[in-house]
Amino acid sequence: MEKIANYINGELIAPKSSQYMDDVNPATAEVFAQIPLSNDKDLQYAIDAAEKAFPVWSNLSVKERANYLNKISKLINENLDELAKAESQDTGKPVQLAQTVDIPRASANMEFFAHAITQFSSESHAGINSINYTLRKPLGVVACISPWNLPLYLFTWKIAPALASGNCVIAKPSEITPYTAYLFSKICMEAGLPKGVLNILHGKGPEIGNAIVSHKNIKAVSFTGGTATGKRIAEISAPLFRKLSLELGGKNPALVFTDCDLDKTVDGLVRASFTNQGEICLCASRIYVEKPIYEEFKEKFVQKVRALKVGNPADPSVNMGALVSAQHLNKVKSYISLAKEEGGKLLCGEEAFELIEENKKGYFLRPHVLENLPNTCRTNQEEIFGPVVSLNVFQSEEEALSLANESEYGLASTIWTNDLSKAHRIGEEIKTGIVWINCWMNRDLRTPFGGMKNSGLGREGGLEALKFFTEPKNICIEY
Ligand code: NAD
Repeated sequence: MEKIANYINGELIAPKSSQYMDDVNPATAEVFAQIPLSNDKDLQYAIDAAEKAFPVWSNLSVKERANYLNKISKLINENLDELAKAESQDTGKPVQLAQTVDIPRASANMEFFAHAITQFSSESHAGINSINYTLRKPLGVVACISPWNLPLYLFTWKIAPALASGNCVIAKPSEITPYTAYLFSKICMEAGLPKGVLNILHGKGPEIGNAIVSHKNIKAVSFTGGTATGKRIAEISAPLFRKLSLELGGKNPALVFTDCDLDKTVDGLVRASFTNQGEICLCASRIYVEKPIYEEFKEKFVQKVRALKVGNPADPSVNMGALVSAQHLNKVKSYISLAKEEGGKLLCGEEAFELIEENKKGYFLRPHVLENLPNTCRTNQEEIFGPVVSLNVFQSEEEALSLANESEYGLASTIWTNDLSKAHRIGEEIKTGIVWINCWMNRDLRTPFGGMKNSGLGREGGLEALKFFTEPKNICIEY
């Protein structure tokens, strides 16, 4: 069985512990690789390598660093099919989704920040007989920790700006989906990335993840994952006075008004609810529909959801693959049981469906739609992170806004209306870091990305990311 290796100091190496855990294909429930269980010794070796690489890497010209990122981007494109299949094998997502979204975006992340760093400038402030200018210097060795739902996409979203701005990186992918990060280390070697600039450690979050964020030499942590983990990382980081970027969970509202384009809205929200099996932090999970069109929306929405095909991720006609793990499938199922206990009425989800022989043990679940749930119940308040949405009714714009904002989370929202003034009014008042009007997941990498409240701290994307990974220093000259 293939053993995944850590990537430290420019080499692929076994963990010092010689211990491994299983990497499981969720569509077949079969183990296909072994994941290193890294420990403090691997971490110290990686930190020493990164600290040694930092003076040279940070002093390269931006053009030289950008060239490395562009080479990596190109190699991702050249290996698109292999990477997409690997991503699907690890996560259960349709191969076609990985081919058209995950892997192209990973390449785009590298390319985008290769360009962005060449356009990055700092401020100057002219005074009376004086001028202040701001230098932005890389921080040193930083940590990038990412989750399982969009593995290479989110891994590179952090690594690219960190490297572009001159830092050296200790990165940890999720232990549930480590394989494309392993392939990415091979790509970095092929691109000739200098040794120690990027180090990828595999292993469990509470073990090596915790060790990374507890290490005093880590100057900043960029983390995407669950809110509870983010809180723990914030507690560890606070006394170290280090920079933190936390992209956490969501419970995203969608507001559907009578004056929307109904067919476009239904299509948009089916996509927003169930793309990637509902395992995207940005997925809609609470859909609020204005009373006059509630029944019509419900009928059209449920009909489209019933038509979604669930099954073999390699089949291009499939809309949804397997959920990422047995544990996650059980969690999502427990929320469906809870929803029923809370008075929810199931509109679809329990239809029988066929799976091919090799997928019979896989972690598949049909998309579930519920209605009749109070806004404050756990199903409507807690993140499920799977193919489950609730339909809810509202009677006025004020009520829609108040229901949407009644949440501990504040990541993303969608508003569906043809009334431009209303869209702007709600866009301004809704408490989420990202608002999409008549669309979902339309991403421009230059925009600030992140959430409010328990959805996180700080913003990624564009200049925000380059600012995060650099320390501003003001210099004042009097003349
Ligand atoms: P998770 O918090 O369990 O794990 C995320 C990463 O953190 C993994 O690499 C894990 O190994 C590591 N980790 C776990 N415990 C750690 C610790 N104590 N110290 C350091 N690292 C630790 O999250 P998950 O289950 O992998 O991902 C799902 C969550 O991610 C959902 O809540 C989802 O909303 C969120 N998410 C958010 C965004 C966003 O941009 N806001 C994007 C994708 C996913």
